[in-house]
Amino acid sequence: MSDATDPTPDAQEARMRFIYTLRSRGVTDMRVLQAMEKIDRSAFLTGLFRERAYEDTPLPIACGQTISQPSVVALMTEALDVGPRDKVLEVGTGSGYQAAILSQLARRVYTVERHRALAKQAQGVFDALGLVNITAIVGDGSHGLPDQAPFDRIIVTAAAEDPPGPLLAQLKIGGIMVVPVGQSDTVQNLIRVHRQETGFEYEELRAVRFVPLVEGLG
Ligand code: SAM
Repeated sequence: MSDATDPTPDAQEARMRFIYTLRSRGVTDMRVLQAMEKIDRSAFLTGLFRERAYEDTPLPIACGQTISQPSVVALMTEALDVGPRDKVLEVGTGSGYQAAILSQLARRVYTVERHRALAKQAQGVFDALGLVNITAIVGDGSHGLPDQAPFDRIIVTAAAEDPPGPLLAQLKIGGIMVVPVGQSDTVQNLIRVHRQETGFEYEELRAVRFVPLVEGLG
């Protein structure tokens, strides 16, 4: 298992090129760039895909799912504007990479995945990397995580037809949710939701393409 904090010189160089790519794609938040430099994406991949960890592309993981494109992970993290006291919910653990990036910025991260095998694999990587402030949970994340609600920040990494009602309800006043919204087989809109005292404010950020948010367990 690669160490999250102690890369070899070759890995260090690959990560520096990676950060350059992220900056060229519009990522400017230094805290996000530092987290992306520190967390080794190859730890969340298996087999030959590990060698492609620092390409700015989505890659296959188990259960027919994908690890997201790094620049999209970075831009979604930036849009979430996570602070060190925040409790964050991620829906769609997948490989666990996005949750690991969030763990560098937040106080606590809960990540929910409908495929048991993915949640188990991701928790194993968190444990191996010493990322003690993340918990991976098996479940249908479209219902949120009522036991741990409310959340300062919520990020959904699968496409919903609309921002799920239970997730809106579990967002703190003053909180932010980032969610891809649209039909699953087309390009979706990345939406940022701000919860105000008086209601919800919706902002369209950019086009993205995610696998669908699916009901029930995998
Ligand atoms: N964030 C992931 C990462 O860093 O690797 C990538 C997420 S992948 C694009 C989308 C994930 O959402 C898949 O693993 C899929 O199984 C999961 N998913 C889809 N619907 C879900 C639901 N209702 N609850 C929880 N997870 C769900």
